[in-house]
Amino acid sequence: MSRLLFLIVIFALIYLLLKSYLKQVRKNDKSEQTGSVPTEDMVCCAHCGVHLPKHESMVTDDMYFCSEAHRRAHADKHQ
Ligand SMILES: [Zn+2]
Repeated sequence: MSRLLFLIVIFALIYLLLKSYLKQVRKNDKSEQTGSVPTEDMVCCAHCGVHLPKHESMVTDDMYFCSEAHRRAHADKHQ
């Protein structure tokens, strides 16, 4: 009888260890995902050629600009 009890304790320990191990692995996966930068389209400023994320750029006539000043400068040049 004591042998059976011993086996149950061993299995319980293995189960608990596996559970905590899997929890840790999942936690690591999550932190890796949040740590990585999501890929985003990079665009090139039509005036100075600097590369910047698409959402930070200004779009005019399918051309991207890094700032309002460069958008205006480019428009002035081509009038
Ligand atoms: Zn620019």
